[in-house]
Amino acid sequence: MRCPYCLFSETKVIDKRQTEDLSSNRRRRECLNCKKRFTTYEKIEMLELFVIKKDGSRQPYNRDKIKIGILKACEKRPISIEIIENLINNIESEILKQESIEISSKFIGSLIMKGLKKIDKVAYIRFASVYLSFDDPIDFSKELKILKVIR
Ligand SMILES: [Zn+2]
Repeated sequence: MRCPYCLFSETKVIDKRQTEDLSSNRRRRECLNCKKRFTTYEKIEMLELFVIKKDGSRQPYNRDKIKIGILKACEKRPISIEIIENLINNIESEILKQESIEISSKFIGSLIMKGLKKIDKVAYIRFASVYLSFDDPIDFSKELKILKVIR
């Protein structure tokens, strides 16, 4: 488990407990290098998190939904799945740093845009145009019509 701050690979577990639905173990870790503390989950796709949408509604965090949105933005671009997985891992590290179980879709959208901007300009523009119109990266994959215009 790498430290999200300095990327050092050795950390120690300082606290461990099961999440409420018992689907994953939440661990408090401390980096052996920079000594910063962070929270990890045994199954990162099961992050105990809720996404607050622009209209105020709440839905459970779903890594796959974010992945589908990013994959759509990266369609036919020279971007490997590994790069996309890394991008999502970095986004999840940023989310974990907030230490809140509620996160706005706006915040997730801004992290995706920031990441894509560094990876591929076309994917960034595709994502940004949909995101800025709908303020909802979670429903990005539904907005195919707009993507076709940009392609
Ligand atoms: Zn560290």
